[in-house]
Amino acid sequence: MTLTVNEIFYSIQGETCSAGLPSVFVRLTGCNLDCSYCDTPCAREDGTSLEIDSIIQKIEQYPSADHVTLTGGEPLLQTNAIHLLRQIIDRGWKCQIETNGSILLKDVPEKVRKIVDVKTPSSGESDSFEMRNLKYLTDRDEVKFLISSIEDYDFSRDFIDKYLARRGLVINFSPVYNTMPYAELADRIINDKLAVRLNLQLHKIIWGPDRKGR
Ligand code: SF4
Repeated sequence: MTLTVNEIFYSIQGETCSAGLPSVFVRLTGCNLDCSYCDTPCAREDGTSLEIDSIIQKIEQYPSADHVTLTGGEPLLQTNAIHLLRQIIDRGWKCQIETNGSILLKDVPEKVRKIVDVKTPSSGESDSFEMRNLKYLTDRDEVKFLISSIEDYDFSRDFIDKYLARRGLVINFSPVYNTMPYAELADRIINDKLAVRLNLQLHKIIWGPDRKGR
């Protein structure tokens, strides 16, 4: 059973409630969207076919890592990604999947923390969210809005009001690097009394925009 893999590497998780923790990143190839600010365009096409057993062996090369991040591209485009997630969980490793929100989450194992994007207007893909996914989000999961303009902010706030209010989810507002000033977004969150988490891309603050580590 194989997956097409863009890269496997070990770094610091830069986002979400796991920010700052080391993680083994498995980046799968392929994406069904075309976001304007995509920072991993190479992951949309470049990849090598690997057996899932081989992927597990590569993860095991990092003995201090007990956390795996499955990312992309869009990792759920490859149906075998579910088998990889099951094998990761079966080994007792913590795991999170970063998904663009457009693919149904129904088969993702319960122990996997789902980090789910809701695409905002500046992405050019704001109608991509699979609304049936709302019922598959649990209190362990996180939703992420990438924000690069006031229009994105207003869109995100309205989406929360309509669909995510009174849910136990962590909701991340993530300023797109070098677009929305951090202080402006922080001030808006405070002034509007939003129960959201300011999600800075730690790896870009540490190493700049081109270094891997998300
Ligand atoms: S979903 Fe992610 S990988 Fe796909 S185009 Fe958008 S930012 Fe790039």
